[in-house]
Amino acid sequence: MLYLDHAATSWPKPPEVPAAVADWFTSIGVSPDRGDGERCHRAAALTAEVRAGVAALCGVRAERVVFTSGATESANLFLRGFLAPGDRVVATAAEHSAIARPLRALGRTLDIECEVVPVDGAGYVAVDAVERALRRRATRLLAVNHASNVTGAVQDVAALVGVAHAHGCTVLLDASQSAGVLPLAGLGADVILGSAHKSLLGPPGLGFLAVRDGIALRPAKQGGTGSSLALDEQPETWPAGFEPGTPNGPAIAGLGAALRWIAARGIAELHAHGVAVADALRAVLRDALGARVRLLGSDTGPRIGIVSFTLADLDPAEAGIALDAHGIHARTGYHCAPWIHRFLGTEAGGTIRFSAGPFVSADEARAAVAAFAR
Ligand code: PMP
Repeated sequence: MLYLDHAATSWPKPPEVPAAVADWFTSIGVSPDRGDGERCHRAAALTAEVRAGVAALCGVRAERVVFTSGATESANLFLRGFLAPGDRVVATAAEHSAIARPLRALGRTLDIECEVVPVDGAGYVAVDAVERALRRRATRLLAVNHASNVTGAVQDVAALVGVAHAHGCTVLLDASQSAGVLPLAGLGADVILGSAHKSLLGPPGLGFLAVRDGIALRPAKQGGTGSSLALDEQPETWPAGFEPGTPNGPAIAGLGAALRWIAARGIAELHAHGVAVADALRAVLRDALGARVRLLGSDTGPRIGIVSFTLADLDPAEAGIALDAHGIHARTGYHCAPWIHRFLGTEAGGTIRFSAGPFVSADEARAAVAAFAR
């Protein structure tokens, strides 16, 4: 089976990742801040090391990194803890349901207005269109999906941050697809969130929310934080106040191993590999299928290793079944992106999406897809 659904979740993982998860069960097995035993101290040291690794990726202080169950929980934690009644939000049309749905729900309960800025046919948002939206009315938050999980288009985050900050607006960057393949620190985003299990090559069930100093957040979840006093109010300390409940120790251990593996490989090389496979697939689809294929995204613009396409004579769901029969694990449909399909012209069934991880070569992917196309 050729696995081409890296954008949903990366597989396989570097072998060091499951090894670190297994090692957690034998050598740690307990949680930090849940006692004074030696194992608790080791759990605390491991968590601190991984937190520092995520903080370095995002360019924030370690205590401003909160571990969550994934990007979805990070988005909910942030939007529900940051927005206040009557706030206005501007979001790109490339946002994932993890952002779009909480915004819609908060629209009803907190009277939050959300303006969605269109993207072009490849998935890029125009900086001046965002600026016009910000100028229309005072806006508290700009939400930007760094790299589209549908087309792979990478937004010009530095320019978007520039216009947002000029309008006094905070920037939330959804780095679910970009973390591990693109630099995040230095883009100027105020808040960055993502999941461990995509290009960060870690286990599922873990995500992060990185918030720069000076951005205040109410804890949107309440519960036990281990060693804090016997309070019946949620502490607002970072990061413990935002991490109630027993943490996902095995996944944190796995992410630590994944971050070391990524650092040794280099994110630039991992990004280049993904794009090289995607470009090889674009070429083979074009050569083999000619006018029967419509490729989305860009051949030349800033992008990550995602190829989305439609076929003239097969809807995406049927194509998914045919691909599976050819031993190719791809993803079809809307990819949990509720707004973008209107702008791509893919409302009828979404797209077929290929995305390869570091263990799939361009030659292997090209040969399998060429055989399928024939
Ligand atoms: N944002 C983007 C851009 C994504 O691609 C995804 C995963 N498809 C998410 C958010 C949500 O991630 P998770 O399901 O791990 O919470």
